[in-house]
Amino acid sequence: MNTEAAQAIETAETVGHFIGGRKVPGTGRSQAVYNPATGEVARQVALADQATVELAIEAAHAAFPAWRAMPPMKRARIMFRFKELLERHADEVVALITEEHGKVLNDALGEFQRGVEIVEYACGAPELLKGEHSKNVGPAIDSWSEFQPLGVVAGITPFNFPAMVPMWMYPMALVCGNTFVLKPSERDPSAPLFIAGLLREAGLPDGVFNVVNGDKEAVDTLLADPRVQAVSFVGSTPVAEAIYRTGTANGKRVQALGGAKNHAIVMPDADMDNAVSALMGAAYGSCGERCMAISVAVAVGEETADTLVGKLKQELTGLRVGPGVDNDNDMGPLVTRPHCDKVRGYIDLGVEEGADLVVDGRGLEVKGNEQGFFLGGTLFDRVRPDMKIYQDEIFGPVLCVVRVGSMQEAMDLIDAHEYGNGTCIFTRDGEAARYFSDNIQVGMVGVNVPLPVPVAYHSFGGWKRSLFGDLFAYGPDAIRFYTRRKTVTQRWPSGGVREKAKFTFPGCS
Ligand code: NAD
Repeated sequence: MNTEAAQAIETAETVGHFIGGRKVPGTGRSQAVYNPATGEVARQVALADQATVELAIEAAHAAFPAWRAMPPMKRARIMFRFKELLERHADEVVALITEEHGKVLNDALGEFQRGVEIVEYACGAPELLKGEHSKNVGPAIDSWSEFQPLGVVAGITPFNFPAMVPMWMYPMALVCGNTFVLKPSERDPSAPLFIAGLLREAGLPDGVFNVVNGDKEAVDTLLADPRVQAVSFVGSTPVAEAIYRTGTANGKRVQALGGAKNHAIVMPDADMDNAVSALMGAAYGSCGERCMAISVAVAVGEETADTLVGKLKQELTGLRVGPGVDNDNDMGPLVTRPHCDKVRGYIDLGVEEGADLVVDGRGLEVKGNEQGFFLGGTLFDRVRPDMKIYQDEIFGPVLCVVRVGSMQEAMDLIDAHEYGNGTCIFTRDGEAARYFSDNIQVGMVGVNVPLPVPVAYHSFGGWKRSLFGDLFAYGPDAIRFYTRRKTVTQRWPSGGVREKAKFTFPGCS
């Protein structure tokens, strides 16, 4: 590291933690957080050691009994106030997202709003937690199932949605009566920490929500501590799988959402202009750093492919790439220099592997931001399934076009891929669309909708190696994930128990 960069790191402020209702400065290890548009160090982030994480777990553990006992309606009222505060402070949160992640402000606002929608859904907790009741399951015997909170729950989140993905988790976990320890991404830690202050302002009791910044050491501590009952993880597949294995081996409930390679099928009868503009946004929005980004377009028929590639090439000439603070840009920088280099490496590899590089984003220079982590939109044609650029999640502004002869061939390709997060089909044929959505082995499906991200009152998740665990994130599945069922069977015999002992298994007679 050159001296100038080293000095910047020393003088930059350090993002610490939020434990027991107050900001706790970091001690020990830290790492730089960059402004990817300028390439400069924006600040540092503390990397929590085991003792710091244990402090957060203890705070959450201590806060649990009182929070669990609070009526769901009162917990929901805190969420209502939280939602108001989020809306009031939207600009500040959005600015922090753009500064550290790089995405364009309007895109950051979009992620923020989708997060707020989860808070809105969580406000319905009293209804969602009502449970199930059956009268007279036997003579004068009633039975019901109730959904009790688990205790301390941890959330571990990725860099690409620093506000929204944590909000997939804690609003739902909290209204169910759990307390929470969040470990956000160390690459863009400021937005989640800022939001923690808003939760406190909304009236959340101290210790109910805690944030520890850090890396593997912090995560390992959360996975090992017996007080942590459940873990929600979102990130790359290798880490998701490791967290699922370790967490479940340690007796925890775990949902671990992983990576993706989302395909869009373009049928010969598709409205091609519509498909092309949808693909442009889905492939290059947020620089391709979305788990629902479309990274493969599967064109059915040579003619479809030729038209599609021609139109995409044309559109790419007008793609505006620059700092995220300028809403006129379509796409900002990648999150860090190493990630930018990795994506560039995949473009080199695609050329070596023999794909047709139709548009090359490697030469892009953004005037005034020469040190930023920018790459231009890139398009490969004639990509084959045996190529690494097809198999791997690149997580950058690179769209691969694969040519196939039929819809079935396209579907077989999607089904054979290790990931199964999202997919979509562009067609005017309702029968084909229905067959596709019914049979494809993917968790979230769009029909003429390129990013079929479920709304807050459904649940989000992929199939195959895009999700380890049984339940999706947010929506109704979150109520199930963050509670455990208890079934009570009850009777009140008058005058004491009058029955004689029965040695046969009781039925409803
Ligand atoms: P990542 O896996 O590198 O990091 C995610 C989290 O895990 C971070 O908090 C990080 O600190 C922690 N972590 C990283 N390495 C670890 C290790 N070895 N042990 C323990 N913890 C570790 O992911 P990322 O680069 O921040 O995010 C991008 C990835 O997330 C992409 O693969 C993307 O598809 C995926 N993602 C998936 C979804 C989804 O819903 N399926 C949503 C958003 C992002």
